Amino acid sequence: MTAPPALRRDSAIAEGKSRSRNDDVRAYAFARSKGNCEACEEPAPFITQNDQPYLEIHHLQRVSSGGMDSPKNVAAICPNCHRRTEYGADADEFNASIVKKIANKEMSLKCEPGTNAQ
Ligand SMILES: [Zn+2]
Repeated sequence: MTAPPALRRDSAIAEGKSRSRNDDVRAYAFARSKGNCEACEEPAPFITQNDQPYLEIHHLQRVSSGGMDSPKNVAAICPNCHRRTEYGADADEFNASIVKKIANKEMSLKCEPGTNAQ
């Protein structure tokens, strides 16, 4: 009844094939977050030694179940929220709410007609 330990090929694929793409998506999510958790919207809990707000990358749909390394499938969230997506009594619901937030964010980013910030 024990699962065979050979089922970890996903991580091997992720490391070999799409590593740089992975990094791009991570960087994108961090930039999109602007230093605020993309789940609870609170500022990152602390600043790292590299002067960056500390947030963690969360895959909304697990890479192992077909989730892609695409901007819509990642969220930069605080450690508390990250743990909640795994251990929370409302983990599924909570994750679904992040999915919605990210979809909305992506939509508004795409619909914005230009770079009015600069
Ligand atoms: Zn949070």
